Amino acid sequence: RPALLDVEDLTVRFRTPAGRLTAVDRLSFDIAAGETLAIVGESGCGKSVTAMALLRLLRSPPAEISGSHVRFEGADLLALSERAMRDVRGNRIAMIFQDPLSALNPVRTVADQIIESLKRHTGLRGPALHRRAVELLDLVRIPEPQRRAEDYPHHFSGGMRQRVMIAIAIAANPRLLIADEPTTALDVTVQAQILKLIVSLQKEFGMSLLLISHDLGVVAETAERVLVMYAGRKVEERPVADLFARPLHPYTRALMRARPTPGLQRELLDEIPGIVPSLADLPPGCAFAPRCAHADEACARLQPVLEGVGGGGSVACLHLDRLAGEKPRAPVLEGV
Ligand code: SF4
Ligand code: MG
Repeated sequence: RPALLDVEDLTVRFRTPAGRLTAVDRLSFDIAAGETLAIVGESGCGKSVTAMALLRLLRSPPAEISGSHVRFEGADLLALSERAMRDVRGNRIAMIFQDPLSALNPVRTVADQIIESLKRHTGLRGPALHRRAVELLDLVRIPEPQRRAEDYPHHFSGGMRQRVMIAIAIAANPRLLIADEPTTALDVTVQAQILKLIVSLQKEFGMSLLLISHDLGVVAETAERVLVMYAGRKVEERPVADLFARPLHPYTRALMRARPTPGLQRELLDEIPGIVPSLADLPPGCAFAPRCAHADEACARLQPVLEGVGGGGSVACLHLDRLAGEKPRAPVLEGV
């Protein structure tokens, strides 16, 4: 499948009092039409910054975005005018966030907020706007959409508010939906429903999905390919079944072991020994070396580069040969 989004060497630096830090370091990936790519990693690994950079939502300064290109539907988003970029945002690429309440306007009904998106991004006018808003609420499975359309955000539960956000996002019929931790703030049972909804709407609308999550359970159920980030760099990218059957990078294996069990929220940071290195003060070699059980003297000196591992996958680890020959220690996820 041809790429809808083709990101090459995306780099995001921040100027801070502590110095310049690289939040995203030469990141490359692509997403085909209709495909789902998940980016996973602990908080601070650069996954949300990546999404913000794609949409050019980072303020500059302090952010500096560079890279070879971010090609989307034939245009390089890094080179577009701010005006053209505004057209892409929301219209061709829509985004949903972890916290729908902060993204919704508390003093306007949900119908009004969906209508605003429809006005901005579609040719619909007049009574058709309200009809479509109710239709969209129905599409995101909000019961009694006709009546609920006149309610305000605080009348909705967290899960229902996320459904409203999804309705606003798909109102423009975007080609790419970016979902940044879309279910993290929700109860486990609601999480599953929202994920199912996103996947079914993705199929129905033929959208591509960029799913950002720290939760490998969410990723396993949703993504076709998974990109694992650590300290701003891609350390592993694999088709989802390959990754769960046989994670290769030591960090991916650690994430698998730290995977929270349903109903029990645990912080990944507590589970993987050591702490994420400060981006302002990365070790010269492999950034994972201070936490890696396989690290040796070479790892502290040399920065690993991505190597192909078959199936279109790639891994950045100096001791890939050794790891590839070893039985994986991570448990295999059921149902994958
Ligand atoms: Fe561990 Fe070395 Fe591989 Fe980095 S390069 S993940 S430190 S074995
Ligand atoms: Mg590319």
